[in-house]
Amino acid sequence: MQTKTAKVLPKTAGEISSGGVYRQRVRCGKQNCKCARGETHSALYFFTRCNGKLVKIYIRKPDVESFTKITNQAIAQRTQKRRSAKQSNELLKHLRESVREYEQISKLHKQNYNYEQS
Ligand SMILES: [Zn+2]
Repeated sequence: MQTKTAKVLPKTAGEISSGGVYRQRVRCGKQNCKCARGETHSALYFFTRCNGKLVKIYIRKPDVESFTKITNQAIAQRTQKRRSAKQSNELLKHLRESVREYEQISKLHKQNYNYEQS
């Protein structure tokens, strides 16, 4: 495996801005292991983007449970953020529509008013 930079798992949900946990089939490299005969091991990795590059970090067995928990937290936070962004967009759209409606109504009123005056 390439280990150019010290790749460590994020410790809190706040540190996870993208990515998630994925299971991959791997070979450990030992010649007389069952994986050499095709029975690959199953390992969990954390995939994320760092400066546009895909980074893959192995999740050690003792870390799996706690790390999966904070990843799910991060995903929930992301979904929440996206949802509230969508909501405020919709609110803005409604506001614009209301303004347009109001403008049309007041224009109409003015027209009627002018008509009545003449
Ligand atoms: Zn093996």
